[in-house]
Amino acid sequence: NIPPNLPNARPESHLFYQTRQRRPLLAEARDVYMWNVEGKRYLDGSSGAMVSNIGHSHPHVLAAMRAQMEKSTFGYRLHFETDPSERLAAKTAALMPEGMEKVFFVSGGSEAVESALKLARQYALAIGQDSRWKVISRRPSYHGCTLGALAITGYAPLTDPFAPMMQAMPKIPAPRAYLDGLDPEDPATGAHYAAMLEAEIIAQGPETVLAFIVEPIGGASTGALVPPEGYMQAVRDICTRHGVLLIHDEVMCGGGRTGRFLGADHWGVVPDIIAISKGFGAGYAPLGAMVAQDRIVGPVLDGGGFLHGYTYAGNPLACAAGLAVLSVIEAEGLVGNAARIGALLKSRLEALMEPFPFIGDVRGKGLLLAFELVADRQTMAPLPAAMNAYVDLVELAYAEGLIIYSRRTRDGREGDHFLICPPMTATEAHVDEIIEKLTAALKAFAP
Ligand code: PMP
Repeated sequence: NIPPNLPNARPESHLFYQTRQRRPLLAEARDVYMWNVEGKRYLDGSSGAMVSNIGHSHPHVLAAMRAQMEKSTFGYRLHFETDPSERLAAKTAALMPEGMEKVFFVSGGSEAVESALKLARQYALAIGQDSRWKVISRRPSYHGCTLGALAITGYAPLTDPFAPMMQAMPKIPAPRAYLDGLDPEDPATGAHYAAMLEAEIIAQGPETVLAFIVEPIGGASTGALVPPEGYMQAVRDICTRHGVLLIHDEVMCGGGRTGRFLGADHWGVVPDIIAISKGFGAGYAPLGAMVAQDRIVGPVLDGGGFLHGYTYAGNPLACAAGLAVLSVIEAEGLVGNAARIGALLKSRLEALMEPFPFIGDVRGKGLLLAFELVADRQTMAPLPAAMNAYVDLVELAYAEGLIIYSRRTRDGREGDHFLICPPMTATEAHVDEIIEKLTAALKAFAP
């Protein structure tokens, strides 16, 4: 009963991504809506891949990009400084926690994470700690597709094929209290999961551990997992105690959509290095940044330089877009709107658990929200492996004119969660429309 959302016959494409599946041709996009060439309208309920945080085609950003385009679109970073990159670096540092003042631009999330790993290693070398190289991460997690970022990604189907090409890195469980039957509000729960990090550092030998990387609020891999009470602070303390650098992957949760500019701002925790991307360029430009404390960057620069960089880094057009995105977020109060509309959307999603018993959990903060489908809410057993909710519910929503984002929650084929993350410009009327369309899709899906 899954409606075909395939476009009308079009010539074989030379383009390829993950699969042979074709998608409708995008005609135009404005704010939270997108239209295909046949005029069908979609509400962008996932901001693409949690990217288009300020909505599509914002006139202020387009004007800023046009103005920059008339001046210059490229200046190689080893030849020129550019005004947009200098201004965006200053603006970014001002939005970061105290002490996070050095900014390194990249073109996306994987590059931001890769840069963080290499800065961490060069810092260890610069301070004479050559034995530190292991980066502990969590399972499940997603930190990027390049071989370095993939080595610290905790999701076997994506990593296993490339295992011989990567350095194996230690993983600890993500704090999924909802699956382990623990109370996320109880500080003992946060302490329980953080203790797993300390045990792993000790088992590995602290003198070999370089860093721990964590998404402050989980994105696609865990489905908007909010850490249990006390977890983030305990992790910070453990890293400090063992001389392990703390890297926050804010690629998805950073940029304001959780109701604070950074995910970690909810707890006031300051890491050593931050990777940020998606909402930073907000779909207007391939843009990301690694931000670090001066005490980390200083020894690396003084000790011979940072052996890392990308040709397009700090591109003036991308940086002009980034500056305009940040000014729209500020001028329109979008972080506050994400908190307010997010709370409303979350309560409306929770209300769907009544008519749809196969919704096992609703979670997230602000407009980084997700629900997880299960066979049994009591045991949280996943949907049968043969069911393809991962694709089917997305297609049903698509047919209704609603875009949602799906991931398999647990390693292997079982388990499905769906991110509901409209742009931060969403209104109460958009929440109504999302719930109405999602309800229709869930009715048609009902396992
Ligand atoms: N880290 C996280 C938390 C992400 O969600 C993503 C992208 N989904 C990445 C890193 C990689 O970013 P990109 O796809 O822009 O390379």
